[in-house]
Amino acid sequence: MGRGEERCEACGEIGAYVEIANAQEPAADEPWQSFPPAERLAAPNPRLEDHYRYASERLLKCPACGAYYWYCRWAPGGSDDVLHSTIHESMRRLSDSEAREALEAARREADRWAAERGWVATAAETRLGVEEELRALGKRDRPG
Ligand SMILES: [Zn+2]
Repeated sequence: MGRGEERCEACGEIGAYVEIANAQEPAADEPWQSFPPAERLAAPNPRLEDHYRYASERLLKCPACGAYYWYCRWAPGGSDDVLHSTIHESMRRLSDSEAREALEAARREADRWAAERGWVATAAETRLGVEEELRALGKRDRPG
């Protein structure tokens, strides 16, 4: 933290990186971990929701301070012990340039899906959503 940044009430608890793990099918008495403020984070804007709907990795944004996070969900290990497999989830705070890269990757991916799978309408929405976020990031760069 530098330059007088204040800890955000909505996402400050996440910090630079947080990872949790839960059993895929937890027993009733098994403790369940969750990201404390995770429910407050959402897709950067509604146009990007469809793009990330089934993704195990996605871009999130804090509605309070505008910080971007990269969310990942994965299950390590093989399928030999399905009943006891663990689901890991992580959130990593992104710098503005990393967020820009993630947005540009989403746009490339959407274009590819439009070409390969015919998801033209979703790709059009994604492109608009990406433009919107890139504009917001561009404004942030300017001092004052
Ligand atoms: Zn925040």
